[in-house]
Amino acid sequence: MEDVVSRASALRAYADETAGCERCALAAGRTQVVFGAGDPDADLMFVGEAPGFHEDQEGIPFVGQAGKLLDRLLGEIGLERSDVFVANVLKCRPPGNRDPLPDEIESCQPHLFRQIELIRPKLVATLGNFATKLLSGSQQGITKVHGVEQEVMLGGLRVTLYPIYHPAAALYTPAMLKVLAEDFARIPALLGRVAPAGPSAAAVVPSQVVEAADLQPAATQLGLF
Ligand code: URA
Repeated sequence: MEDVVSRASALRAYADETAGCERCALAAGRTQVVFGAGDPDADLMFVGEAPGFHEDQEGIPFVGQAGKLLDRLLGEIGLERSDVFVANVLKCRPPGNRDPLPDEIESCQPHLFRQIELIRPKLVATLGNFATKLLSGSQQGITKVHGVEQEVMLGGLRVTLYPIYHPAAALYTPAMLKVLAEDFARIPALLGRVAPAGPSAAAVVPSQVVEAADLQPAATQLGLF
């Protein structure tokens, strides 16, 4: 218990320290650093790409349409946002939601590794190409590696890495939503938990795809898959 309390306060202290980060040029254009949010003691951590407009405004990752889908997929496996920790490869919004640049990823990666070191998750689910390539240390794209867990060393810890499609990609492509939901459905088993009774996650159907109206740029442009 004491360990959990000190882990939470170490994470909070690190968030405070990171709030003034000027390791790269994104500092100049951000509203705020989007450190990450959730349970500091989570067994399951999600790593996305970078904050978008809404995340930059609110200071919380995945609060836009992709976040709503993430919440729904979590619900399908009996979890809520507060059960997991959600962070991004980049902690600051790239202008116009463009792809992260290699030097931005390199500058920001110590923050992500420190988060992993402090949270000590069992399972790290990488959402899309940028997180997957960074944390797997491989250039293999998400289309090839999604849904296949791998053992990796991160922040000095042995963790299971589980690459899955980015929810923003699935917003545009019903077939991808089905695959994402199927990959999500394996998470409880990977965590050593029993999946909740009820409709299977694979039953998240295209009719539930969020309207394209106020979405971030097309997933393909984002390089999500
Ligand atoms: N997409 C991401 O990768 N991260 C966010 O926080 C929001 C959208």
